Amino acid sequence: MTCDFLSCAAPGVRVLQPYQPGKPESELRREYGLTDIVKLASNENPLGPSPRALTAVRDALSGLARYPDGNGFELKSALSAKLGLSMAMLTLGNGSNDVLELVARAFLTPEHEAVFSEHAFAVYPIVTQAIGATARVAKAYPADHAMPHGHDPAAMLALINDRTRVVSIANPNNPTGTWLKTAELEAFLASVPEQVIVVIDEAYGEYVGPEADCPNALRWIDRFPNLIVTRTFSKAYGLAGLRVGYAVSHPQVADLLNRVRQPFNVNSLALVAAAAALDDVDHLERSRALNQAGMKQLLDACRQWPLRWLPSVGNFLCVDVGRPGREVFLELLKRGVIVRPVDNYGLPHYLRISIGTAAENARCIAALSDVLKG
Ligand SMILES: *Cc1c(COP(=O)(O)O)cnc(C)c1O
Repeated sequence: MTCDFLSCAAPGVRVLQPYQPGKPESELRREYGLTDIVKLASNENPLGPSPRALTAVRDALSGLARYPDGNGFELKSALSAKLGLSMAMLTLGNGSNDVLELVARAFLTPEHEAVFSEHAFAVYPIVTQAIGATARVAKAYPADHAMPHGHDPAAMLALINDRTRVVSIANPNNPTGTWLKTAELEAFLASVPEQVIVVIDEAYGEYVGPEADCPNALRWIDRFPNLIVTRTFSKAYGLAGLRVGYAVSHPQVADLLNRVRQPFNVNSLALVAAAAALDDVDHLERSRALNQAGMKQLLDACRQWPLRWLPSVGNFLCVDVGRPGREVFLELLKRGVIVRPVDNYGLPHYLRISIGTAAENARCIAALSDVLKG
């Protein structure tokens, strides 16, 4: 090859490290010849989607020759009714990942900066770099803090300057599971200059119980016009494979996001499935209950081993395995259990374990006990 395409690429893309997804089950099957595999690596809902979502998908199959509704009217009106806010405040995405990218495209340029914390969700640096904007990474709380490795709002505020356009916080954060409490987040929002967009990524919001004091940021949506709250159907709603998420924001911000959105970014099956899933409160309740029981199962094992863990209000737990997490991850793979090493997040001794069914959790706990013994 005579042409060096790397040197022709956009500057941000040249240095981009692609997102590392959880290892798919099919890959482990191919590589190790294993059949009985437990995947607890991508924070998916072990119960799967609501049966109503599946029925909606089946009913929509005959319409696949048609383009989807580019404005997602039905889903937006279902969300609008559910959340009690106007449809003009909604932006639909091909997963909330898509929405995070829309935010970067609408507000960042190579002259601008984005702020997020150490150990923050990997998509924030990726969308920032892809645009060629500068990422400013705030120090997280230390390991011995009450919220170990959690986001430090004061450290994030200190990085905001005239070039800052976007600040992103996942609440709770993935992969740590840590969160900003209500008073802390409210004070942060009140301190951020009003022209700086603040994204509160609530991918795990549906799992958060009242006892954690981890706020639903929609309560501030009218008070802070620079606030964007993102949500997804990939986690508690069990629709990760269909790719659908959304943002709630001031209508003017939503208008900007919708300008850079692909015209048919959410497919027709995802649109109907998401609307049907929203309706099934019982399924969501069952999913939450299963998660609570599974979290308890895993925490009991952590106390027994004993292993340290990070506080989590999500459907996953970051466990300190006391040695390189990637080594333990590889040992678990041999035993048919896929979890997530988080060395790429600056947490080399941790493994992130998604909460599965009771049987899946038991498999994972037994395999990890076996590895830790050896
Ligand atoms: C999983 C996850 C998302 C959601 O991704 P989708 O594109 O909606 O599947 C967003 N933010 C965080 C922090 C996540 O962990």
